[in-house]
Amino acid sequence: MTYIGRFAPSPTGPLHFGSLLAALASYLDARANQGQWFLRIEDLDPPREMPGATDLILFCLEKFGFEWNGSVIRQSDRSEIYQDRLQALLKSDLAYRCNCSRQQIKQRTGSSLYDRFCYSHPPAKTELCAVRCLCDTDIPFQDLILGQQQFPEYTDDFVIHRRDGLFAYQLAVTVDDAEQNISHIVRGSDLLDSTPKQLHLQRLFNYPQPLYAHIPVATNSQGQKLSKQTFARPLNQSDPVPQLGQALQFLGQQPEPDILSCPAPELLRWATENWKIERIPASTAIEWKEAD
Ligand code: GLU
Repeated sequence: MTYIGRFAPSPTGPLHFGSLLAALASYLDARANQGQWFLRIEDLDPPREMPGATDLILFCLEKFGFEWNGSVIRQSDRSEIYQDRLQALLKSDLAYRCNCSRQQIKQRTGSSLYDRFCYSHPPAKTELCAVRCLCDTDIPFQDLILGQQQFPEYTDDFVIHRRDGLFAYQLAVTVDDAEQNISHIVRGSDLLDSTPKQLHLQRLFNYPQPLYAHIPVATNSQGQKLSKQTFARPLNQSDPVPQLGQALQFLGQQPEPDILSCPAPELLRWATENWKIERIPASTAIEWKEAD
């Protein structure tokens, strides 16, 4: 099997330690398996994005010694294909329009799970609507790090096109992973419960199913994932090696002290040769204290 991996950051801000973990694990697993590694910028949600973040991300990855295959794909250039897939689902009655607000759903169901109201009460054509995909069953899967996974409690008709006109992450990521022939998806465990939704869309579109490996997310002492919202510090581009060393340690790899005095590309070569995915802790979250 040809290995094709990817790193798919959303340009909401500069990369931080949490993003480095996903970049590094996906990169090393691909390279250790003689695979290709693609970079995809998931810039589908302008209100959440930071101007200039894409350039910052690419520059930072270069500084950290990452080398990707082919050209960088930007989701903002790919609306046509998402539109095509969306229409295919609508035409085959596998998706339907919905104008329920979060508040209405909560009032009716007492949760955020959708009750399929609009399937039996279609909104008028003139109404501004989201599109939901029919989804009855949870699809279990075998995660390469965490083992057997199943999330029946999150099964509902999820949104694939938002009411504000934007394509939803679940649709775009599934289409792109298939179009790029991604065989292995290595990413943070915060996306673990999105995986059954993506498996469901793969089945509807007759796409092959990639293998999944979800790495632990780094959290602060309150158990919150490092992110822009929790004020994670941007990576320090002028000194990549110590941060790469810390990321390797977090991922259960055991970098030898001498290798930590080499330049980043050499450290990455060493890490590729010594990569053992089975050393990554089988845990969804691990606390991480950012150095002062
Ligand atoms: N764009 C997503 C993020 O930055 C990652 C998508 C994925 O790896 O599936 O959280």
